[in-house]
Amino acid sequence: MENIKKTVLVTGGTGFLGVHTVLQLLQQGYEVRTTLRSLSKKDSIIKALEEGGITDFSHLSFFEADLTSDNNWDEAVKGCDYVLHVASPFPAQDPKDENELIIPARDGALRVLKTSRDAGVKRVVLTSSFAAVGYSIKIENHVFTEEDWTDVNTALPAYIKSKTVAEKSAWEFVEKEGNGLELAVINPVGIFGPSIGGITSASLDIAVSSILNGNLEYTPTFTMGVVDVRDVADIHIKAMVSPAAAGERFIATSDGVMSFYDVAELFKKERPQYTANIQELEPIGKEFYKEMSNKKARTILNWYPRSREEALLASADSLMANS
Ligand code: NAP
Repeated sequence: MENIKKTVLVTGGTGFLGVHTVLQLLQQGYEVRTTLRSLSKKDSIIKALEEGGITDFSHLSFFEADLTSDNNWDEAVKGCDYVLHVASPFPAQDPKDENELIIPARDGALRVLKTSRDAGVKRVVLTSSFAAVGYSIKIENHVFTEEDWTDVNTALPAYIKSKTVAEKSAWEFVEKEGNGLELAVINPVGIFGPSIGGITSASLDIAVSSILNGNLEYTPTFTMGVVDVRDVADIHIKAMVSPAAAGERFIATSDGVMSFYDVAELFKKERPQYTANIQELEPIGKEFYKEMSNKKARTILNWYPRSREEALLASADSLMANS
């Protein structure tokens, strides 16, 4: 196998996407490193990977590193062929001070890029978000593509701003100071799919747990794209190795979008055994439906994601199994 000796660093191995990405890289025979803010969380990663079927941990190593500090990044990155920069703060609620998110997101991305450039890494794949694509343009009659950018000069929630600022800064860095370092960017919509080892994220808390436990009392007037975490891990690896991915951003979404009413209806239809607590939600108008395209990822990366229904049902099943 050509990739057997390639070494890949995944930042944020404690996270929902991070741990699934580490899992797939190990399954594919890579040498894998991951950073975490505190090595005390190492056992939670191992538990999740064991649940994913890993029994041999000799190809995985752990490094303690925080996005807000220079400590240990050199050591984590040295000798890596690729870096998948997944870590970024993603709280369920925005903080009062937007800098709590913007500083680690932007400075963390720049820290990872600079260290990677200096260490001779071939390519960094940055996990951005649809947040950096689709929040400033009127949604009527518009299908969002990678050409679209959220405008940071408009009023934005802190998380959306943090992802947009971080991605913009990353592109500027590679253009002006990258010295040949390649960058590819993934812009996922809401990430769902199975939680392993009990590791969840704000997306599961907001759009699955809150519906199933009855905390959601009304339907917010927006829709979300849905993508399975297994497909988001896969698209990171495809963007890491595909020559055509260098210098490109890719929206990662399954086909179609859903309101929270649609999600509740899906659970009622397909998993009635979980739905005793779901509140009576109202449908929302079609004018709130925001469309986005996955054509670029399909055509350039040959990436064909699972359906949105499969992703959401996998989240519900894994959460209910652990409850
Ligand atoms: P998550 O489970 O909350 O993972 C976030 C990761 O970032 C965790 O490993 C966390 O570490 C780490 N992190 C946060 N602040 C850090 C800091 N100052 N220093 C070092 N590490 C830090 O969320 P996720 O869904 O897997 O998110 C992974 C990536 O996907 C993020 O870049 C997020 O913006 C992006 N994304 C997520 C979604 C979604 O719907 N879930 C959609 C689009 C994009 P701790 O465990 O120590 O907190």
